[in-house]
Amino acid sequence: MAEQNILKSPIEYMKGVGPFRADILKKELGIHTFEDFLMHFPFRYVDKTQFHRIADIDEETENIQLKGVLRRLETTGEGRKKRLVARLRDPSGAIDLVWFKGIRFIEKQLQIGSEYVVYGKPNFFKSYISIPHPEIEIVSAENTQEAAFLEPVYRSTEKMKAKHLDAKGIRKIQKLLLSRIKPTDIKENLPEYIRTKLKLPNRYEALRQIHFPSNQKTLRLASNRLKFEELFFLQLKLLQTRGVRKETFKGYHFRRIGDAFNGFYKKLPFELTNAQKRVIKEIRQDVRTNRHMNRLLQGDVGSGKTICALMTMLMAIDNGFQACLMAPTEILAKQHFNNVTKDLEGLDIKVEFLSGSVKGKKKRGKILAELASGETKILIGTHALIEDPIIFKNLGLAIIDEQHRFGVAQRAKLWKKSSPYPPHILVMTATPIPRTLAMTAYGDLDVSVIDEMPPGRKPVKTMHKTDAHRLRVFGFMREQIKKGHQVYIVYPLIEESETLDLNNLMEGYESISREFPIPEYQISIVHGRMKPKDKEFEMQRFAKHETHIMVATTVIEVGVNVPNATLMIIENTERFGLAQLHQLRGRVGRGGGEAFCILMSSFKLSTESRHRIKTMCDTNDGFKIAEEDMKLRGPGNIAGTQQSGLLHFKLADLLKDHKILKVAREIAHRIVEDDLKLERSEHLPIKEYLLSRKDGYKGWSRIS
Ligand code: ADP
Ligand code: MG
Repeated sequence: MAEQNILKSPIEYMKGVGPFRADILKKELGIHTFEDFLMHFPFRYVDKTQFHRIADIDEETENIQLKGVLRRLETTGEGRKKRLVARLRDPSGAIDLVWFKGIRFIEKQLQIGSEYVVYGKPNFFKSYISIPHPEIEIVSAENTQEAAFLEPVYRSTEKMKAKHLDAKGIRKIQKLLLSRIKPTDIKENLPEYIRTKLKLPNRYEALRQIHFPSNQKTLRLASNRLKFEELFFLQLKLLQTRGVRKETFKGYHFRRIGDAFNGFYKKLPFELTNAQKRVIKEIRQDVRTNRHMNRLLQGDVGSGKTICALMTMLMAIDNGFQACLMAPTEILAKQHFNNVTKDLEGLDIKVEFLSGSVKGKKKRGKILAELASGETKILIGTHALIEDPIIFKNLGLAIIDEQHRFGVAQRAKLWKKSSPYPPHILVMTATPIPRTLAMTAYGDLDVSVIDEMPPGRKPVKTMHKTDAHRLRVFGFMREQIKKGHQVYIVYPLIEESETLDLNNLMEGYESISREFPIPEYQISIVHGRMKPKDKEFEMQRFAKHETHIMVATTVIEVGVNVPNATLMIIENTERFGLAQLHQLRGRVGRGGGEAFCILMSSFKLSTESRHRIKTMCDTNDGFKIAEEDMKLRGPGNIAGTQQSGLLHFKLADLLKDHKILKVAREIAHRIVEDDLKLERSEHLPIKEYLLSRKDGYKGWSRIS
């Protein structure tokens, strides 16, 4: 029998671990094997390669190592304010070391007049510099020798620390583990030609160096190699999935461009933007071949996605197929229906609307019959369109507006609506995500982007105001209403404190009602506690201009299009995320005229809130806002990506490592193009690695 690879050994067999600690490692960090343990990388390193001069410490100084003589030792303060202060002096100057806890114990260890090695992070308070809770050791041959190194620090949890699995404990075990691993135990997973091209160290070397680096340079190389590996295999897997899907799934062939498309195009009252033309070309490329289209269309609100979708539907119709368009809410669906009907006037294409609200057996029966016979060419409705009783004659294309609420199960149903092939799918979203993120989160989809607004569109003028300006804000509202426009006032809704939010909203409503009394002013109110029917009714009232002001929680986020609304006031702005603010703001400025957004907040703001508000005031570009959002909150929290689970990297950081990501993506792309199934001998290491990790790559193609 072949020797079992040491890396596969259960972690309890590791010296210094045992069954009890193994249990903790499993529960706390999901570490089951030697290999898992080896893959638990340090999150930082303590630079023990040099001693810092005390005089050189400034506000930029991170963790440092000092060497000096203890000159003074005293406790000050009483009770909880009690602290131990030690003065450390080196030839260049002196600094205070401070302890707030464990004072008695530490005091006993320290000796005035002795020389120590100290490690810690300086703290600045006004002009006073100190090092709180440093690591401190008496000078010895060991800690001052030229055996200088970068000491790894590992993530640990309270439960682990209680069992000596703190950074130090883990370090000890890692060291032992690495001493037992032979180069042949670590299989190289990157082809030689990639390693040579990118000058990457081999995998064994990289793993050794990531734990116990010889110096900064070897650490950087190791880290780059392992980051590349992470990003490369993810990209490869995503692109491969996409490639296989493209090869396996055939789609309907929309061979020709005919009367429907051309008739519409000729009548179009405006020129398409270049971005729209590009997107239509991309879609055309998909559907003119025998492949199945699965495409995401991203673009800000108002960038003209719907026209692109409509023209795609016309391609389907020109080739004898039906198309459907689904929206997440009834009201949005209805709006799409009205727009499409208007856009297609005089073209003799039957468009039908269907949703839960279409009542009456006879009426529904007729709609279903005309759908089944193929007389209806375009069906527009809510996501309920994919439910069972609805049968198409030949559905060739499905457009999904706002994909976030469209799950995998729904997709499966949609696929069943058509045979022999599934309908082509185009998903539209107005939530832009940064490109680097799109590569990863949507890596197995094709993505089209509209990054250009139709000409003449004015950005929504955005201002930040606090309560002190409230009267002027009311004045501005009056002005807008006098001009015949309408106003949104939006309150945050956070689920944990629904009651509080509702109170907040109601108070706001009352104060607005006092300020804008009936009968001169009519006010709508919409919130999440209302019945859908009542919500709908109020929204319609506002849409029909029967009311002037709409007081609402964020339910309007993907709501109605009311071109006459020119002003949006957002209350408690600090409680909204950037993406959401951007979405909300997109509700105004749809009429072509000037539009405004006022962000209300308290006077005191956190740095982050201030940054968010400034970003909103500075730009209307959804992609820029998404980038900022990603910087503020980290890639894992961006809308639409949470569920993907693709963004949890050990080392790579999509923000900082976008260059590595780009290279990884390019190389993965080339491999998939040339050798989709990884049959070439030079790609054997990749293939074997993917096979060995099969379980780790489950559930990877979930979006849309
Ligand atoms: P989205 O779906 O991306 O929010 P829409 O497709 O609804 O945007 O377009 C918003 C408005 O802009 C619509 O009234 C549409 O007719 C108009 N529009 C779309 N494309 C153009 C264009 N190229 N030039 C001028 N107006 C356009
Ligand atoms: Mg739209």
